[in-house]
Amino acid sequence: MIYDLHTHSTASDGSLSPTQLVQLASTNGVETLALTDHDTTEGIKEAVAAAKDNNINIINGIEFSVTWQDKTIHVVGLNIDIENNDLKAGINHLQTYRLKRAQAISEQLDVQAGIEGALEGAESFSQSSMIGRVHFAQFLVKNGYAKDIKQVFKKYLIKNKPGYVKDTWASLEDVIHWITQAGGIAVIAHPARYQLKLKKLRILVDAFANMGGRAIEVVSGSQCADEIPKMSRLAEEFNLHASIGSDFHSAEMSWNRLGKFPALPLSCKPISELL
Ligand code: AMP
Ligand code: MN
Ligand code: MN
Ligand code: MN
Repeated sequence: MIYDLHTHSTASDGSLSPTQLVQLASTNGVETLALTDHDTTEGIKEAVAAAKDNNINIINGIEFSVTWQDKTIHVVGLNIDIENNDLKAGINHLQTYRLKRAQAISEQLDVQAGIEGALEGAESFSQSSMIGRVHFAQFLVKNGYAKDIKQVFKKYLIKNKPGYVKDTWASLEDVIHWITQAGGIAVIAHPARYQLKLKKLRILVDAFANMGGRAIEVVSGSQCADEIPKMSRLAEEFNLHASIGSDFHSAEMSWNRLGKFPALPLSCKPISELL
């Protein structure tokens, strides 16, 4: 069975609609696909409908934004009941925060870099109610402030740059609670990407497991393949299942190969056992 358990659509900052994403997954031989948009489940119904014509099994998913010890961490929820009230309240909270943060980013870009109208600009690139930094990046590229998305992040959107806003997302505990209340499985997304020393990463994974987290992405298209053995040992140490996903956003982004990545090491307990 070919699984891809971490992907994005136009419901957040991906460039394909849920239907187009399902079609590409089918072309690439994916049999089980999780749609995991940032802090929203808005695209799931369309993905489920599209999957019926494409012989694909859809896992209802989400990628939640968390602030843990001053760091932004992403936690994927898989197999969630999208009608669950705790989950819906959590999503509402983060969507409201996203809007407030977008206003702050826009204000910063105006005051610090003299760039006007960034909020409206970013909104024009969002195809849903979710607004994120990628939409700001698209607006800035279109207006010639940088040559591509990667450059915009480097020049404007990360720490110490004019459009940077310190995030206060949800707590790790709340996010795991929302996911588990909705019957889902909480997974630490791309653990190798947080620039945490192994000691700190172990503290994160330990806290996550103690709060009811069940799995960790051992293989992710958005983290280097060299990290697989280390992440696999971490999964084993904390008795977590191993997940796998491309973190697909668009055909242009480098970590973009929907359904194409190395296999999970045989020593791992595959997350498929829980799905
Ligand atoms: P946000 O949740 O609004 O802060 O946006 C985070 C998203 O921005 C990630 O999921 C990626 O899609 C994108 N992103 C983050 N860092 C970079 C980067 N250095 N280059 C390109 N895209 C990035
Ligand atoms: Mn993204
Ligand atoms: Mn992420
Ligand atoms: Mn992602």
